[in-house]
Amino acid sequence: MRCNIHMLWKFFLVVLALLATGNLTDIEAQSRPEVRLVLQVTIDGLRADLINRYENGFGKGGFRFLIEKGIYYTNAYYQHANTETIVGHTTLATGTFPSQHGMIGNVWFDRETGELAYNIEDPDSPIIPTRENESKGEQVDPAQKKSRTQGRSPAVILAPTFSDGLAAYYGGRSKIFGVSGKDRSAVSMAGHVGKAFWYSTNTGDFVSSTYYYDAYPDWVIQWNAQRKAEGYAGKSWSLLNDPSAYLLFAQDNRPYEADLKGYGRVFPHPFGQADDKLFASRILISPIGDQLTLDFSKALIKHEQLGQDEIPDYLSISFSGVDAANHFFGPSSLENEDVVVQLDRTLSDLIEFIGKTVGLDHTLIVLSADHGMADMPEYMTELGYPAGRLNPDEIVKTANKVGQQYGIDEIVRFFYRPYLYLDNEKISAAKLDQTFVEQAIADALTYTDGIALAVASSRLSSQQSNPLVAQVQRNTHITRSGDIYIIQEPYWFLFDKGPVKAMHGSPWRYDTHVPIIFAGPTIGAQTVHRLVHPVDVAPTIAAFLGMTPPGSAQGSALEEVLR
Ligand SMILES: [Zn+2]
Repeated sequence: MRCNIHMLWKFFLVVLALLATGNLTDIEAQSRPEVRLVLQVTIDGLRADLINRYENGFGKGGFRFLIEKGIYYTNAYYQHANTETIVGHTTLATGTFPSQHGMIGNVWFDRETGELAYNIEDPDSPIIPTRENESKGEQVDPAQKKSRTQGRSPAVILAPTFSDGLAAYYGGRSKIFGVSGKDRSAVSMAGHVGKAFWYSTNTGDFVSSTYYYDAYPDWVIQWNAQRKAEGYAGKSWSLLNDPSAYLLFAQDNRPYEADLKGYGRVFPHPFGQADDKLFASRILISPIGDQLTLDFSKALIKHEQLGQDEIPDYLSISFSGVDAANHFFGPSSLENEDVVVQLDRTLSDLIEFIGKTVGLDHTLIVLSADHGMADMPEYMTELGYPAGRLNPDEIVKTANKVGQQYGIDEIVRFFYRPYLYLDNEKISAAKLDQTFVEQAIADALTYTDGIALAVASSRLSSQQSNPLVAQVQRNTHITRSGDIYIIQEPYWFLFDKGPVKAMHGSPWRYDTHVPIIFAGPTIGAQTVHRLVHPVDVAPTIAAFLGMTPPGSAQGSALEEVLR
């Protein structure tokens, strides 16, 4: 009996030892791949279904390569309400919601100064000039237009990014950069410790601010000295392929598309001369802006020697052309199809370049978008789905009328979609209950045609079971958000004037649905249809490198990528 027990014990020890060795071998076999570069590609305004709609126009090396080699998530949705550029980018970068990272919209009303603030505006960090005599271009980006100064920095981003964590993990030895056609898309992704460069709509140069540099590195001076944007003076944006090759070939000349001063509504769109105030903007509203963004990024990879050693570097490239074309011509325009098809070639060029310089077996490629895009109300109405545009002054009038019923004149302090800010001092001076007044105004607005729901901030916690309200809650920052959040009905817009014709920014699916693709060493090809979210992206990149997620991250690492 004793002997049997002894033998059993011995057998148990042998099994344990075998298991242990087995485990060790497994760990060795699954050791982390040597990632030398994390390349995060964000395509501004690429609604997820555009990849399917334009599939036939794609070559082999761009979207198709990533989808066929990587893990492609087809059901990824933002969970916040205000689906705008800075909100989406910062969510991708930090893995958390605007309620935490504080970027609740491209602009918000600053209650202290009584002025509208542009998201990454920072008067203490002016842009470093690239030319002696720089003439100012005409600004067509409605959010940029609201900025008061030329300073830019990530100072107001309230959460750490993946790139911030990477810097900490590797003792500051990782090189970290963000490049984009737009300032906010470069700055947010570079985080607080990386460096950002973006396209200037004044000059067509790539610029940075004193937050990052005292003076430009030589390679940046040399790149800008080539004046590559100006090489397109007198040229036009023309279709890449024969018109018959396009699904939307009949969607070029539509009366509700923008006719941007000389750029026209139909192909070819002339860029005009280099001294034209809109020249650099027109370049950005075309596939050329993305091509220049890539060209600058290639110079950066080469001169900063990204991905050349065992310490992983990080490069974010955010392409702005799809969003820009969407805003002027709509997401169901021939321009949209061509800009996506041409971006596919730009991606192919990028992937080939990375293959040659860093090696695809040393690069983790992550692709997503910051938001989707709504089809224009006029287009939807033409098809038989009634929609319209709301006049912001009418929204203010409706709210002020409710205020008057309680004896307060001009109760609205400010309105910029989607937030309505009330004059809290007037409400307390009249000895009225803020919650009660907010709700009365929200109710009146909700009865307005074209408004689906107006959500009073003070009532958020009691209404959370409504999924729309939960999206608003994730968008609510205690000091920056307004008192009432206005949600338009599907395909309605909260504006009726301005050069921009189409918009995103709603909590509806066409604005929240984006692609997420991971490709890189050890990642097998797979299409995943389960529901995932952009807050999962940063924790996944971190986990792939064996790092803890960014401090405030609320998403989870996507297990398919880690297998
Ligand atoms: Zn946009």
